[in-house]
Amino acid sequence: MKTLLTAAVAAMTLFALPARAQEGAEDRPAWSLALHGGAGVIERGQLTPEQDAAYRAALEAALAVGARVLEDGGSSLDAVEAVIQVLEDDPLFNAGRGAVFTADGRIEHDAAIMDGPTLRAGAVAGLTRTRHPISAARAVMERSPHVFLIGAGAETFARSQGLEEVDPSYFFTERRWQGLVRQLERDGLPVPARPEGAPAPGAMAGVVPPLDEKKFGTVGVVALDREGRLAAGTSTGGMTGKRWGRVGDVPVIGAGTYASNAEGCAVSATGSGEYFIRATVARDICARKAAFETYPEIGVAELARRTEACERGAPPDAVCMVHLQLPGHMAAQAEIAEVGTLGGEGGVILMTRSGQVHYAMNTSGMYRGRVSATSPAEVAIYADE
Ligand code: ASP
Repeated sequence: MKTLLTAAVAAMTLFALPARAQEGAEDRPAWSLALHGGAGVIERGQLTPEQDAAYRAALEAALAVGARVLEDGGSSLDAVEAVIQVLEDDPLFNAGRGAVFTADGRIEHDAAIMDGPTLRAGAVAGLTRTRHPISAARAVMERSPHVFLIGAGAETFARSQGLEEVDPSYFFTERRWQGLVRQLERDGLPVPARPEGAPAPGAMAGVVPPLDEKKFGTVGVVALDREGRLAAGTSTGGMTGKRWGRVGDVPVIGAGTYASNAEGCAVSATGSGEYFIRATVARDICARKAAFETYPEIGVAELARRTEACERGAPPDAVCMVHLQLPGHMAAQAEIAEVGTLGGEGGVILMTRSGQVHYAMNTSGMYRGRVSATSPAEVAIYADE
């Protein structure tokens, strides 16, 4: 048992990578930031070495932007917005430039941001011209009396706030267009005309790696700043071939995005949005985590049960390690398992009040990375890294 407890502590350290050694060990909490670039069918061998390297470099560049903001004493909201802007500008991801197309050949962006200390939140859906949907979400939160704006009204508001607008063709990428064409043909649906202003076929060859469109590619960031403020943000083009004004989980506060300092929890999700809405994933993870902490016997009992199972020797060591988790990791794992039970797939990133980062996914990969005041940037793609 003693050995197992030691292993438990080791496992917690391994999975949690705390930004500081102990709660309360320093006057001010260190900063910490984690991001995702979408979850999905991402298996070794599917990405060429160049594609693999391009994604890792993009994640590292985005982490560096967030690290700079937080290291300089910027707020977690500033970091979330700055990092998501970088990812929105990067055609590798399904957000901003590089977003997926609707069935009628348009690009409609959804985004949300949330401030942990105040529970203020802002969200937008169906934006077609605003270059940085995450900034529109933040403007809704800070400069409107509302939480969630959609479509033309949201765009009018963003314009009134001086946010940059671009021609919709700015968001066009050949690989997302070809992804739409393939999906509509598969589904026996009509293929719309190529969007006006889109570059001629082949003109973007060499610019964007031709990846499979099945990787979702939504982007999200969770952050903790030096003042201990948590924030979360998410931005996406949604799902390829979406119709009828479909809106996913991303801008639904509590589904794809949530942050609460009271619960010590910030979450951004990615995956098949309908299931994430039904399971109220982001809020539920925070509630589960808080419950594990408030009523430690829940966590301890579960831990004991799993420890006992591990002790019986049935599962391999790695499985035992996964079972010996902190509340945050247990909460994220349990929630993704529930999404899976409903039939959904995807992943989440979770930041705790002390800067611990947890990932959970039921897909073969999720583009992701983290950095903190005390740990260098690290990025990963495949579920088993
Ligand atoms: N969750 C997003 C949506 O359903 C898609 C994704 O994460 O890839 O709109």
